[in-house]
Amino acid sequence: MPSGKTHTKLNLIALPVLVFLLVSYGFTSWGFLLWFSGGFVAGTYLLSPDLDTHSSPYRSWGPLRILWYPYQAVMPHRSVLTHTFIIGDLIRVLYLLLVLSPFLYILNKNVLDGQLPMMMEQHKPELLTILLGIITASALHIMADVLNTKRKRLFHRKRRRR
Ligand SMILES: [Zn+2]
Repeated sequence: MPSGKTHTKLNLIALPVLVFLLVSYGFTSWGFLLWFSGGFVAGTYLLSPDLDTHSSPYRSWGPLRILWYPYQAVMPHRSVLTHTFIIGDLIRVLYLLLVLSPFLYILNKNVLDGQLPMMMEQHKPELLTILLGIITASALHIMADVLNTKRKRLFHRKRRRR
């Protein structure tokens, strides 16, 4: 597995390239690019597949990393549930929403006058764009993991042959 720093570096190098590709494919809306990049950065620093282990994204949560204790306890590192395209991200986002649900409930009831579901409905395109950014960041992470494993295997095979 590449180190956390390598993953972050790879993703941050890839982001301008991705934005360039998106623009060249006609996704020129600033809003879209901004939400996508935001999701991508969040996916790199906070919602990475490596939350299943004591990784730098896990430490990025600071004291709030306590939220990920149960997740880590249940998920084996690099399991299908954490390191699979889209599925891993959906599980992480749903898990986070579940853990935050008491807080969201209080927020909705006492601060937002029960408007939270309506607000989420109104901002659905933005939320989906953020999710797309998160999914893209994880996809790069998973690809880097797979390529690195293949490279290591190749290296080991060569050594064994000698
Ligand atoms: Zn990983």
